[in-house]
Amino acid sequence: MQYRTMPGTGDKISVLGFGCMRLPTESGSKSYGADILKEEAARQIHLAIDGGVNYLDTAQPYHEGNSESFLGDYVLKDGYREKVYLATKLPCWLINTYEDMEYQFSQQLKRLRVDYIDYYMLHALDGKVWDKMYSLGVTDFMDSLLKDGRIRHIGFSFHGILEDFKRITDAYNWNFTQVQYNIIDEYFQAGIDGIKYAHAKNIGVIVMEPLRGGSLAEDIPDDVQNLYSSAPVRRTPAEWALRWVLNRPEVTLLLSGMNSQENILENIRVASEAYPDSLSENEVRMIEEVRKCYLSHGKCTECGYCMPCPAGIDIPDAMKNPDKNIKAAGLCLDCGVCETKCPQGIKIREMLKKCG
Ligand code: SF4
Ligand code: SF4
Repeated sequence: MQYRTMPGTGDKISVLGFGCMRLPTESGSKSYGADILKEEAARQIHLAIDGGVNYLDTAQPYHEGNSESFLGDYVLKDGYREKVYLATKLPCWLINTYEDMEYQFSQQLKRLRVDYIDYYMLHALDGKVWDKMYSLGVTDFMDSLLKDGRIRHIGFSFHGILEDFKRITDAYNWNFTQVQYNIIDEYFQAGIDGIKYAHAKNIGVIVMEPLRGGSLAEDIPDDVQNLYSSAPVRRTPAEWALRWVLNRPEVTLLLSGMNSQENILENIRVASEAYPDSLSENEVRMIEEVRKCYLSHGKCTECGYCMPCPAGIDIPDAMKNPDKNIKAAGLCLDCGVCETKCPQGIKIREMLKKCG
């Protein structure tokens, strides 16, 4: 396993973190519902830890509220708590008072059966959420958690625009941030400019969605596959995508929501080899071509970034099944909000008009 030092904390963290939001479930690996296959999921996480992974990421809403308690009941025992840096997040959407913050945090400690969190985040900030949390006194709350040792480090996960990312970064003495970054989303949300901005301020960077919800690993378009196949080294699309993220020296670790033994062992191998600046110039250039191919398709990848729609349209579903979405076209308010958020540049309103 490769470890990188988190700037701002000094912890040596495995470049592969285990995301506990896509654990195996009884109803199938893609449902990610409350029905976690607990023994199997615990076996997989322990396998990853035994293989060198030392960072576990969870949050209150994962697996419909069951991820944290699952970790507390099945994973963080028999010495495993001490082997990992544990990360979870304050559900900002449930906070309306200062007392709500205390309450949510205390529930998280209870569910996880721990008395401190290593890496604690404000969950899913954008400019508006930050302003709300700030007005409720979240900086005092974070100060108090740090002071009495209930958390070791504080950060925020982010889903907004770059300008707000910089504003939030400047507004508190953060130790780390968690942002979305992958081959397609190089300039989406915080993007590479945000990553560099945080890094320059000695703030650690954790990358989420390196495979864009799996879409960079499966159903690879022919032109993209041809590029990968023409490379002198044979690598799967997932490996190229992970290596591309870890090629960045500013990135401390990436999170992967793993749910099979094969996937875990493969990711551990990739993580052990993918050092900063280890891709050759030709390889970086090839991946730029891969990005161009993806963007040129203008094809919906069902990423969901365009949601929510104020008219209640399930846009990814409408893009996927235009024939079944006659209603969607009629509902659209023509506000255009979705199109400002679509990294594929899809003319969603035009597409909706074609529905049915
Ligand atoms: S343009 Fe239509 S589909 Fe897009 S967000 Fe507005 S109402 Fe929803
Ligand atoms: S329309 Fe765009 S933003 Fe919405 S799900 Fe499809 S690719 Fe993602």
